[in-house]
Amino acid sequence: MNEKVRCLIIGSGPAGYTAAIYASRANLSPVLYEGMEPGGQLTTTTEVENFPGYPDGITGPELMEDLKKQATRFGADIRFGMVSSTDLSSSPYKVTIDGEKVIEAETIIISTGATAKYLGLPDEKKYAGSGVSACATCDGFFYRKLTVAVVGGGDTACEEASYLAGLASKVYLIVRKDYLRASKIMQERVFSNPKIEVLFEHETLGLTGEGVVQGANLVKRRGQTDEEQVQIKIDGFFLAIGHKPNSAIFKPWIETDEVGYIKTQAGSPRTNLPGIFAAGDVADPHYRQAITAAGTGCQSAIEAERYLSEKGV
Ligand code: NDP
Repeated sequence: MNEKVRCLIIGSGPAGYTAAIYASRANLSPVLYEGMEPGGQLTTTTEVENFPGYPDGITGPELMEDLKKQATRFGADIRFGMVSSTDLSSSPYKVTIDGEKVIEAETIIISTGATAKYLGLPDEKKYAGSGVSACATCDGFFYRKLTVAVVGGGDTACEEASYLAGLASKVYLIVRKDYLRASKIMQERVFSNPKIEVLFEHETLGLTGEGVVQGANLVKRRGQTDEEQVQIKIDGFFLAIGHKPNSAIFKPWIETDEVGYIKTQAGSPRTNLPGIFAAGDVADPHYRQAITAAGTGCQSAIEAERYLSEKGV
């Protein structure tokens, strides 16, 4: 027997939990599936100092635990489980959890987030939270007056390098090609910043340091006759080689851009399907902040409530 729910929330980052708080307070009896990484990307960061309301900062896992508690307090039904397939061909929409349980949902809030891409080096795991980060806005503050490296040549890498240059004493930008892919204006910002040194045609082989990152081993012009090993001293290593929005499971039905970010109508979390909303990083290539994710989670729950009352469900 399929379970029928009025509001299904998929994903448990700030977007999902905020949607759950608002939806439960609006009597939608939301069911939220946490997914593979309960709490989302923030559980992999240490201190969060830019989420309003925490003047002394809070750790990522604590913040997510607080949001979860707040959602539970109002009756949100939070469960562990992964969406294994979807059939969004007609309403109520069918979502299968862990290949077994089928949920029939009148509304769905997709808040499955995005996953930062990593190079795939064992050292990225070894130094996770000890000098390796994929979010300059989250962790840059810990590198004031220190030296950091950013990997990538796109807009994100240039933006993160410029942001970090406002805090750190020196920023290396490690670029695998001999040019930046970023927009001209972002490139100019990088080239005109005396604190940023761009290392073109460099790739990272590994990281070094006792317990924390203290350096990186690079190779310049790998495979060429003039290939060269390069060591740099750094205190932080930031990945900015792109994010992968976790939207694949909805793709046959939900419109995305070419990267996979879910397309929403301007100024709202509405997707191309009525009653289905997208909140947080899965629909946001630009801001990617906990607070903006929470904001769109709130919007989605309000939209879901309005949709259901208009439909009389
Ligand atoms: P992009 O895909 O644009 O760029 C990724 C960068 O990472 C590329 O330079 C790529 O190198 C490099 N890269 C990928 N894999 C590796 C690897 N294994 N080793 C080394 N380097 C690697 O991602 P972004 O996150 O920068 O941008 C995503 C989208 O968001 C873009 O459309 C961008 O314009 C937009 N954006 C806009 C901003 C703004 O307007 N303010 C700010 C941030 C993002 P290569 O070039 O060699 O492929």
